[in-house]
Amino acid sequence: MKILVCIKQVPDTTDIKWTENNTIQREGVESVINPYDVFAIEEALKLKKSIDNVEITALTMGPLQAEDILKKAIAVGCDHAVLISDKKFAGADTYATGKTIASAIKTKLADYDLILCGQFAVDGDTAQTGPSIANQLGIPQVTYVRKLYKCDGKSIYATREIEEGLEAVKAQFPVLICVLKGYEEPTRPKINGIIKAQNSKITVYSMEDIGLTPEDVGIKGSPTYVSRAFRPQNTRGECEIYSNCGTFAEKIKKFGGLCNE
Ligand code: FAD
Repeated sequence: MKILVCIKQVPDTTDIKWTENNTIQREGVESVINPYDVFAIEEALKLKKSIDNVEITALTMGPLQAEDILKKAIAVGCDHAVLISDKKFAGADTYATGKTIASAIKTKLADYDLILCGQFAVDGDTAQTGPSIANQLGIPQVTYVRKLYKCDGKSIYATREIEEGLEAVKAQFPVLICVLKGYEEPTRPKINGIIKAQNSKITVYSMEDIGLTPEDVGIKGSPTYVSRAFRPQNTRGECEIYSNCGTFAEKIKKFGGLCNE
């Protein structure tokens, strides 16, 4: 069984700064694996422990320094790592990111059963990339997954969060799954894993390698335009709390606004 895990490099900071194009300033900021993707790796590792012949490939689209997170993925137990990297990918929105990753999968990693993504990236936080990859590959997707609890080689069984509680789902391969924070502590790298990661070679694919053109990728391939980015005003201390003011209609009369009652 072949599993692909999509991981994203995110800034290791809460002090987000913006570029002049209103995108997140990523250069010069320490980076880590997106926390939800750590749980996606964890679900893949659990499957590897419970079933024979599972091969895990971690992949990311990002700059060359994203090799660091791929090596971390190998250190905890992933078998292979792929970096999709090209200067022309800069400025990609979620549509172009999904298209680029899907093209790499179609052209270079087509022999897969299961694709795992995080539900969100903690920097961009759109939750669009996983569904976009599934859409462009034409495969089903299961989102908001808490746990993969069974696999019979042809299908995967998962519990997913819905408003009313948890839902149990069975999905046939190939399928893409977006995971939430899991229940278990993520695996820590062991010394053998760290040595393996240091010696491993990361496969890098460029735009041409995956059959795309400059019009498909980066800013040219991105329909999203960010017109403005700003921090919300801090409203702390500006709210007044009234208690014991009677019914909703009485409150409206007392504090202003229209009331039909
Ligand atoms: P989400 O959709 O919330 O992520 C969900 C999951 O998708 C992740 O947990 C992970 O499993 C997977 N995933 C997401 N991104 C990747 C990835 N790159 N590789 C592998 N798996 C992934 N970002 C840049 O890094 N550089 C840029 O130059 C850049 N320019 C942008 C320009 C514009 C106009 C816009 C709108 C955005 C730009 N971004 C850039 C942000 C970029 O589009 C998003 O970070 C990216 O598409 C993922 O979206 P997200 O962060 O909302 O991830």
